[in-house]
Amino acid sequence: MTVPSIGLNDGHEIPQLGFGVFQVPPRETERAVSFALDAGYRHIDTAEMYGNEEGVGRAVRAAGLDRGEVYITSKLNNGYHRPDVARRAFESTLEALGYDYVDLFLIHWPLPTLYDGDFVSTWKTLEEFKADGRARSIGVSNFQVAHLERLIRETDTVPAVNQIELHPYFQNREVAAFDREHGIATEAWAPIAQGKVLDDPTLTGVAERYGRSVAQVVLRWHIQHGMIVFPKSVTPERIRENIAIFDFELEPVDVEAIDALDRGEAGRNGPNPDAFDYVPS
Ligand code: NDP
Repeated sequence: MTVPSIGLNDGHEIPQLGFGVFQVPPRETERAVSFALDAGYRHIDTAEMYGNEEGVGRAVRAAGLDRGEVYITSKLNNGYHRPDVARRAFESTLEALGYDYVDLFLIHWPLPTLYDGDFVSTWKTLEEFKADGRARSIGVSNFQVAHLERLIRETDTVPAVNQIELHPYFQNREVAAFDREHGIATEAWAPIAQGKVLDDPTLTGVAERYGRSVAQVVLRWHIQHGMIVFPKSVTPERIRENIAIFDFELEPVDVEAIDALDRGEAGRNGPNPDAFDYVPS
């Protein structure tokens, strides 16, 4: 299964489909990622907050793959936004992964109600990691339009990606449109809404007609909209199923039927980034 790549605004490329490891327990991570690599995934999305970066690095090495063959993203933990702390946290990420660079490093949440709302200094710290080559690309996650506008106004680097909650019930259209207009690639987290869209009657109807699973249809819908996705699963057959989506195409009428499932803000599952202030203890 060949996964297409998306060109980023800094000249690098990212595989459009990867494997997410949020909520994969650290001791199970090496096994799950090994299985995903074996199934053909070459892009892993982890984070300092997930506590499982070590298992990601171990799995890549155990697979006998060269570092350059796998795209690895990690994210700065909440609570580490101050520049000096961010620098140490980034070093710990590289150490945990066991590599001297990441392909992509993100600010996980903007935390606009903490640090006097100063995510700009944090972003400038990520610019250092890009400048010294230890992060090939830098981006953000859960940034709203106002947060992106500030970065664009006050710094020299437009984020390469913005990783946001996005699925059929919460299409996050205002942020996705802003990303598009400014050359920022959108990564859709919780692409199948952590399972909540799987029994939707419109989706089960489409899936039946294509002889595919609902998860495959939803992931295909993301791909056709140009989103980058990294569904998470610890279940071998689902891991294989989620990457087997490049041998069929949804008709425009079915894409539109899924577009119509958007519930706006009511469809959001996760926290609202304008208010989210969780800092791990
Ligand atoms: P997903 O939408 O990927 O859903 C994962 C859930 O769906 C799991 O319970 C999994 O179960 C189940 N599942 C996966 N595939 C299938 C399938 N084919 N059929 C039926 N059920 C399936 O949610 P996530 O929240 O994990 O999002 C994906 C990734 O996005 C994360 O792993 C992480 O990398 C990133 N993310 C980023 C956030 C951010 O703030 N930046 C926030 C949340 C996620 P099981 O594992 O038991 O098979």
